[in-house]
Amino acid sequence: MDFKNIISHCKEYGFIYQSSEIYDGLAAAYDYGPYGVELKNNIKQYWWKSMVQMHENIVGIDASIFMHPKTWKASGHVDAFNDPLVDNKDSKKRYRADQLVEGYAEKIENKIQKDVDKAKKRFGDAFDEQEFRSTNGRILERQAKIDSAMTLLGTHMKNEDMAGLKQLIEDLEIACPDSGSRNWTDVRQFNLMFSTQLGNIAGEEGKLYLRPETAQGIFVNFLNVQKSTRQKLPFGIAQIGKAFRNEIVARQFIFRMREFEQMEMQFFIKPGAEMDWYKHWKAARLEWHKALGVPADHLRYHDHDNLAHYANAAVDIEFKFPFGFRELEGIHSRTDFDLSSHQELSGKKLQYFDPQTNESYVPYVVETSIGCDRMFLAQISLALQEEKVPDADGKESKRTVMKLHPAVAPVKCAVLPLLKNREELVNAAKDVTAKLKPHVNVQYDEKDAIGRRYRRQDAIGTPYCVTVDFDTLEDQTVTIRDRDTLEQTRVKIEDVAKIIGEKVDMSGLFPG
Ligand code: ATP
Repeated sequence: MDFKNIISHCKEYGFIYQSSEIYDGLAAAYDYGPYGVELKNNIKQYWWKSMVQMHENIVGIDASIFMHPKTWKASGHVDAFNDPLVDNKDSKKRYRADQLVEGYAEKIENKIQKDVDKAKKRFGDAFDEQEFRSTNGRILERQAKIDSAMTLLGTHMKNEDMAGLKQLIEDLEIACPDSGSRNWTDVRQFNLMFSTQLGNIAGEEGKLYLRPETAQGIFVNFLNVQKSTRQKLPFGIAQIGKAFRNEIVARQFIFRMREFEQMEMQFFIKPGAEMDWYKHWKAARLEWHKALGVPADHLRYHDHDNLAHYANAAVDIEFKFPFGFRELEGIHSRTDFDLSSHQELSGKKLQYFDPQTNESYVPYVVETSIGCDRMFLAQISLALQEEKVPDADGKESKRTVMKLHPAVAPVKCAVLPLLKNREELVNAAKDVTAKLKPHVNVQYDEKDAIGRRYRRQDAIGTPYCVTVDFDTLEDQTVTIRDRDTLEQTRVKIEDVAKIIGEKVDMSGLFPG
């Protein structure tokens, strides 16, 4: 489904609303509605269960959003958490200089892809894409343009060369997508942290930041957690929580927000073991996505070319969003950078005593970090589909269906009396609903014809509909309709809770 329709579906069906909409909205802030919050909670539960509860050596915390301002000095965020900002003087629109260059490269890549697709069609089975890409003159020329632009971008970003970035934008003749003009301001660094002021301390001393990542709450608690849980290396600390970034450009719905939620895990290890663990988590995190039913062709790795100041290896898991492959999750080998910096600035030892070798050292860290909202968008954009299905009278009709995995679907089961004006059906359906309530998130619905009620449940992704009909009154059975196969199975009322409970249980998502 295209992106616009996904956004309007999310609003219409109570998944996501624009924040403060009655005041025309606040850019890049969104509110989760009644079904949205259920789906989001289920995603978080899936992550928490698999990362924390399924591992004896990973524990969870919930740290505060406000932290001592020195935290952000130590982490490098005060000095280096910047994006290169550039304004177009005619449209007055703001852009990230690096994204303008990336957009330039992406446009050329799209042209290359078109040529490849055309050739594929022409040559059929005999087509060798690699050979075509490495020999076709026009493609080679275009690829050279991309490579040169991306190399220069990498160099300028690494050297924080703002003048070089501006020159690159001019040399590539990049125009403002809004005004079409090439009238750019100088490029300057823009810090992405939001700040606020403590009530009782004036000036710089009282300056507080809203955390731009949850990871630092884990690092500063490393020893507290290690001592109170007596964990031995390797072990991990996980956290789910809000993070805030004053993003320059945030125009892609919940993909890039100024307030968002992260699910992060820092895995503490012996120095030297980082590459093995990095490989381990890289593979494990991809499997986590696949277990939920994300097809392999919607996921890919993207190695970082330019490593952040704290990393010695980093990879993104990219997902095929409706607007192309983009970062969904990052796996970073962060060395001992964070713990060492905190140790230095705080003057407190942040070391682990290794009982095997009788030595103390600052552990290394491999991090997995995923945006909960991006995961939500990935799930919705994959699940939401339009398809033709047979009607009750045998004709075909169109339906919008959200094919979410039952374990994360907001409502697991709807109970529907065949007719709402027959008291005995209504009473029986309400009884069934009450029986299911303690076990799964269930919804009772009697309004409109049964077909329309099925469509409504399809649109919010409810995997099972239980229908109470006249046979129910005779033999205490109901039908369970499967959202995806449309098959109806007749079962005894006393078995419904167990059957549905098993079908929506999360445990099936975990290997062995
Ligand atoms: P990007 O390059 O897209 O800005 P990033 O590399 O800065 O992302 P990280 O700092 O690695 O992102 O953050 C970890 C995860 O947090 C990302 O993979 C993403 O899922 C999520 N995330 C980061 N920024 C945002 C945002 N503004 N809105 C929603 N999710 C975000």
